[in-house]
Amino acid sequence: MDKPTLDTGDVYDVCAGRARPSDVRKALQELRKTVVKAAAAYEVAAAQQAQHTLNHLKHQPDGESAAKSAKSAKSAKSAKSSINEELKKTYVNRMVRGAGRTFYDELRGSCHGLCALCGHGAADTLDHQLPKDSFPLLSVVPINLVPACSRCNHQKKEHAPTHAGDQTLHPYFDGDVHDHVWLFARVTGPPKPSVIFRVDPPADMPPAFAARARHHFAALELSELYNSQIGNELRCLGMSLARHPLPPEELREHLQETAEIKAAVEGRNSWKAALYRGLVESTWYVEGGWEEPWN
Ligand SMILES: [Zn+2]
Repeated sequence: MDKPTLDTGDVYDVCAGRARPSDVRKALQELRKTVVKAAAAYEVAAAQQAQHTLNHLKHQPDGESAAKSAKSAKSAKSAKSSINEELKKTYVNRMVRGAGRTFYDELRGSCHGLCALCGHGAADTLDHQLPKDSFPLLSVVPINLVPACSRCNHQKKEHAPTHAGDQTLHPYFDGDVHDHVWLFARVTGPPKPSVIFRVDPPADMPPAFAARARHHFAALELSELYNSQIGNELRCLGMSLARHPLPPEELREHLQETAEIKAAVEGRNSWKAALYRGLVESTWYVEGGWEEPWN
């Protein structure tokens, strides 16, 4: 999907400009250049699948030790909030709600209202691709905010990558990963019809993309999500074929055409495209397996 066109400085001005009290607001406003610079470094790294090289931005501007002591102070329910905590609040208090809400809504709706991580759930939140706990400077940076469903946001957790493959796919920067087909479904039966989704990157896929696709599938537990969806799809297909049965060769052609349509509309690595490719390959299915009830 396209990168957001929102300007980091504009978004930051609105979110930081409403901070209270005035000394916090002033401190945040003084960080504007630092935030814009961090966003520029992030953009360069993300375009090269190298977000793991941004360690110099970690826990800035307070630094890691200050972040730790702020955490213990927080648990003691005392002490003044650190600037890192205030940066995170620019998201929680001034973007999710407050003055920056229009930016939040624009970003959240940018994938046709769908989650850009699983392509299935409704985007009811924004996910920080690099977590704001580790990267407070990126708390309201638009290119770090991805429309996501609550499930994916929760599964992804606050994870800071340690190498190129140690991260979920970034919808704004990793689109080329779909130049390759890497999601497959194996359809088998009897005694019980079953579908197993798996990631199997082709040999010519860049290693960072291959590792990232695997990590994405595992970290977001997409196998579980996809398996919860196939029942209705296969029951509909079975009912349609019961009304208009096709001999195996014609059925294979029909399934192949459907796989191509699903790939064009929902993406070649969508679960539906993978499922129909798997059905084409399943001799059991095309030779009568489709008549089996799918429970
Ligand atoms: Zn999702």
